[in-house]
Amino acid sequence: MKYLKKTDPQIYKAILNETKRQNDKLELIASENFTSREILEAISSVMTNKYAEGYPGKRWYGGCEFVDEAERLCIERAKKLFRAEHANVQPHSGSQANMAVFFAALNIGDTVLAMDLRSGGHLSHGYRLNFSGKYFHVVPYGLSRKTEMLDYDEILALAKEYKPKMILAGGSAYPRTIDFKKFRRICDEVGAYLLVDMAHIAGLVATGLHPSPVPLAEFVTTTTHKTLRGPRSGVILCKRKFAKRIDTAVFPGIQGGPFMHTIAAKAVCFKMALEASFKRYQKQVLVNAKELAIALSEKGYRIVSQGTDTHLLLVDLTGKNLTGKDAASVLDRANITVNKNLIPFDKKSAFLTSGLRLGTPALTTRGMKETEMRKIATLIDDILKKPRDQKTLASVKESVKRLAGKFPLYKDILKELKRV
Ligand SMILES: *Cc1c(COP(=O)(O)O)cnc(C)c1O
Repeated sequence: MKYLKKTDPQIYKAILNETKRQNDKLELIASENFTSREILEAISSVMTNKYAEGYPGKRWYGGCEFVDEAERLCIERAKKLFRAEHANVQPHSGSQANMAVFFAALNIGDTVLAMDLRSGGHLSHGYRLNFSGKYFHVVPYGLSRKTEMLDYDEILALAKEYKPKMILAGGSAYPRTIDFKKFRRICDEVGAYLLVDMAHIAGLVATGLHPSPVPLAEFVTTTTHKTLRGPRSGVILCKRKFAKRIDTAVFPGIQGGPFMHTIAAKAVCFKMALEASFKRYQKQVLVNAKELAIALSEKGYRIVSQGTDTHLLLVDLTGKNLTGKDAASVLDRANITVNKNLIPFDKKSAFLTSGLRLGTPALTTRGMKETEMRKIATLIDDILKKPRDQKTLASVKESVKRLAGKFPLYKDILKELKRV
């Protein structure tokens, strides 16, 4: 980054510090990961210069022969990885992918059934300030009070009552396996489309560690930067008969020129996700999440739904005299990064919350295993037991530094940044 350092030392410094932060802290945000050097190379390449409105072979600009090659590879690999009939790899993000499906499948004002934000749904699933909530009639479904899991009978009853044109499955804070077959049956019973948003679990789906929605749903959307460990972006998979409608909804419907550097990076992501080592990684993500859940529950923390089948878990802090907001902020001071999160039937606001969401994809990428998860559970407990104790804070911070130091991240980038 010698050019950057010279021309814009402030941004250079921010990037250097962010690289250090990622290396020094323990990243437990369930939606984050550390992408590979190969993907960083592709995304910072000259492909960012190219305008390529349209699709491979049918562009509105000249000089697209090499970006066409990248996009074709990206599409083929996405289809192969998820066994999909059609893939659109142009959405800039998960929200854009959802927006394109809404506009392709529905008319303004149509009814959609989607998971309530407070139960773990996503903003793009009907939040009132989001396009989805503003332009569509979104009826929320929640979770069972008893199991804190999806209640398929309730979803069926709501579907029969509201006759939605589309039912949306998937969320941002749901730790359990989703039964896509049951969703399919409900959709068939009321004649609704099924959209599965697998943003969080795409890496697990790609490696067969979570049942795939692809054979069952008309539309599947995902991000590429969560468990999939690619660049920050989105993808839509759909049945062949919706291919044209989806492509038109993305461009010219909601986007202009695709980010060709990101599409190249997504192609690399899918290639790497097809390798055997990626499945080993995903298996360890699951093992680590289970270990972390067990270790925390042994220390007296209630885990929502009594555990996890995925890469994430929700910790209920009710009775700990600490909101999710305060817990996340003291943990951050000890260099442990987590999200505050609502728990099912939370009595607190989304700003305060009674819970924490923890995920293992990022730390597993660093090479951490069960032993480290146990250690991290102890560190979290030490902090949360004495949130205002400065001595505890200092000692946990020291332990975090030692632990992170044993699993270095982007070591050569750091060396390079400091050298220039
Ligand atoms: C993260 C997420 C998204 C959107 O991701 P962005 O890329 O931030 O727009 C969409 N749906 C779900 C369920 C998610 O968890």
